[in-house]
Amino acid sequence: MFVSDILAYKGERVISVAPNDGLAAAIATLAARRIGAVLVLDAGGAIVGILSERDVLHAMARDGAAALNRKVSEVMTGSVVTCDPDASIEHVMQTMTDRRFRHLPVVRQGRLCGMISIGDVVRLRLEEQRREADALREYITAA
Ligand code: AMP
Repeated sequence: MFVSDILAYKGERVISVAPNDGLAAAIATLAARRIGAVLVLDAGGAIVGILSERDVLHAMARDGAAALNRKVSEVMTGSVVTCDPDASIEHVMQTMTDRRFRHLPVVRQGRLCGMISIGDVVRLRLEEQRREADALREYITAA
């Protein structure tokens, strides 16, 4: 199974904010969309960062309510790890575990084409395990 299998049911839409947006507006987007991270894109659509609820938590712990007045660019993670749609599910599970994050933007030949979360990966893995178990059960009962 591959990252492209996740995009096939999830689609390629990516929720994003701009680096100059205020943190309060970005938090409103996270809440309204019921997601844990947004990608930060510049005016040309290039990836300049990622803002997750973890970044919000750290900013609030450091600055309290004043954090709400900061810009997204001051709070986001600037160096973003991406994956290819042809990457295997095992590969992205390993990356998320090693790097300790739960989100990966998907980039095909320099073009952003989706965003996957650890929830998407677990869901696909469960489906795969269910299918394997069904196939084994069928094999055993047919024997
Ligand atoms: P998460 O577990 O995804 O909520 O994120 C934990 C931390 O890792 C936060 O500081 C995020 O900004 C950062 N982060 C999340 N995804 C990525 C990614 N794909 N590349 C780089 N940093 C990330």
